[in-house]
Amino acid sequence: MKKIKWIVLLGILVLLFGYKFSDGNREINISNEKSKDTSHITIEKEHVYYGNLLLVGLDNPVQDIGVQRDVIYLSGHPDYIQEYQLLDPAIMLSEMVAERFSAMVNAAKKDHVNHFMINSGFRSFEEQNQLYEEMGPAYALPAGFSEHNLGLALDIGSTLNKMEDAEEGKWLEKNSWKYGFILRYPKDKTAITGIQYEPWHFRYVGLPHSAIMFKKNYTLEQYLDYVKKKKSFSLRYEGKKYYISYYDFKGKPSIKAAVSRNYEISGDNKSGIIVTGVE
Ligand SMILES: [Zn+2]
Repeated sequence: MKKIKWIVLLGILVLLFGYKFSDGNREINISNEKSKDTSHITIEKEHVYYGNLLLVGLDNPVQDIGVQRDVIYLSGHPDYIQEYQLLDPAIMLSEMVAERFSAMVNAAKKDHVNHFMINSGFRSFEEQNQLYEEMGPAYALPAGFSEHNLGLALDIGSTLNKMEDAEEGKWLEKNSWKYGFILRYPKDKTAITGIQYEPWHFRYVGLPHSAIMFKKNYTLEQYLDYVKKKKSFSLRYEGKKYYISYYDFKGKPSIKAAVSRNYEISGDNKSGIIVTGVE
């Protein structure tokens, strides 16, 4: 009888820890399976410069078409800003990103991490130029060369501590990928990003891309290289099947791409597009 009790207790412990373990280490299994339910569409070259996966840098400036069209003043939407503070009422962000950010902040609150603040969001080219002129090249990038010009990046702070030491920063570094965000300029990747460690700067790229990047410890640069090299792959994440393909325009004005019934397209801001199908 005593033995059975111990076995039951052991079973409960394994279940508890097993569950905890799998929650923190959600498996990403990449395969080469192709979707059976596709049709072909024509995609124009301008799509290279628009979408959630754009790489922005000195060689790849933000084009006008790359600016998110749903940028809003966060202070004009009290429902979004209930759980965090704004440094300035003039802070703007893509509304889609603001929704994802709120979902993330609400999840952090359940872990008792709830002193978030947005210090910067979308910056128009004019604002970026002004910042560059005021702060200089050591602090700011010229207009068009900052991810803030997309509307998909934001600088997040803590009202309690420096982001590097704050619980808010630690929580985001560990969990933001679950909500489609990545820490864009990590400490150990400065040679790849070309940007100093910025524990506050997060970028929205969307799922399942943020999950793959986190699991493989890839920056956006490394991930886009990976997708380009793989050309096509699939994965299962949270009960959904994703098909990811890369197409290079190779100078052509348009290309034909195979798409699933539900899909999203993003350019890489260089020469191609990433098609993400979901089933
Ligand atoms: Zn930033």
